[in-house]
Amino acid sequence: MSNRMSNRAEPLSVLEVHLDAVARNWLYFRKKLKNGADCAAVVKADAYGLGAAIVAPVLFDQGCRHFFVAYFDEGVDVRKSLSTSTLPGNDVDIYVLNGPWGASAADFVAHGLTPVLNSIDDIQYWRSQDSNAPAIVHIDTGMNRLGLSPDDVTNLDLSGLNIRYVMSHLACGDETAHPKNAEQLAAFKTLTTQLGLPLRLSLANSAGIMLGTDYHFDLVRPGCGLYGINPWDGVNPMQGAVTLKARVVQIREIKKAGTVGYGASYSVAPPAKCATVSVGYADGYLRSATGQGQVVIDGHKCPIIGRVSMDSVIVDVSHTNAQTGDWAEIIGQTQTVDDVAAQARTIGYEILTNLGRRYKRIYTGA
Ligand SMILES: *Cc1c(COP(=O)(O)O)cnc(C)c1O
Repeated sequence: MSNRMSNRAEPLSVLEVHLDAVARNWLYFRKKLKNGADCAAVVKADAYGLGAAIVAPVLFDQGCRHFFVAYFDEGVDVRKSLSTSTLPGNDVDIYVLNGPWGASAADFVAHGLTPVLNSIDDIQYWRSQDSNAPAIVHIDTGMNRLGLSPDDVTNLDLSGLNIRYVMSHLACGDETAHPKNAEQLAAFKTLTTQLGLPLRLSLANSAGIMLGTDYHFDLVRPGCGLYGINPWDGVNPMQGAVTLKARVVQIREIKKAGTVGYGASYSVAPPAKCATVSVGYADGYLRSATGQGQVVIDGHKCPIIGRVSMDSVIVDVSHTNAQTGDWAEIIGQTQTVDDVAAQARTIGYEILTNLGRRYKRIYTGA
């Protein structure tokens, strides 16, 4: 007890980011690639919540020279984080998936950012600004989100443009047997052949890498797998990149029948013991985990009872010796980010990109 009372001054919740795991995950993908294909890293949305300014230099040190972000400002930050690495021969390309928005073409060039041109409009704009500045052209092969349509490609004139890659994106890569994968692969080959020019090509995200070397082309763009999310429907080959834990701030013995949490939605009767754990939806612990989620205290799985609140959850610890000050694992050895996502009826991407700002962040394994 005195031990637990003495840790009052320590953080209430801790997010550990395992940089060695991120590095190993990148190397895992690179090792799988077809000869001659390069491995990029997708570090958009602050490296899926883990911290792009810290993750990007770690991957640079492993040999990564291609980075994808979604926004101009994200690209500026990644460029800044790599500024000590710009010795000759260390050229880094940073590509902006949303295209030339949010800053002038001159600013893209000044910051060394390469836009992904997603439409004829984008291409015309880029040509009118600085046709010599590098760009990626994105063609749509069936996702109908971003990129030139097959009709656009038919009459496309890329002459005079400095095209680094032609890329497309898979809609169902994580479903290995989905027929859409082969359809998109075939469409990608047909459309890029139509373009005629010798072009470097990029199709695969993390899941696409797992589909095999036919999907690798010249550059792959893994994101989720770097951060420990399972990139396919087989056994997860990635290493968990985050440990998230929060402390028990109160223990309550239930002495008479009552309810737990907002809306009195959960009924509890003695004998029972509840613990309040300092993580809530303001920390990215999604409210949709109500009725499904669990935390792990001293090896025991403890179900969340009642609704997830802003700063806390209440868990059933009747079967444990949990005490005030104990750590509850939210994401870690016992439950992966994909497990937690399933409990909240979402995907690991949404869990990571919502990771809160109130955790004490600790970067390990640098
Ligand atoms: C986000 C994104 C990726 C990375 O996808 P993961 O599934 O996280 O590996 C690759 N390419 C494009 C176009 C993306 O938007």
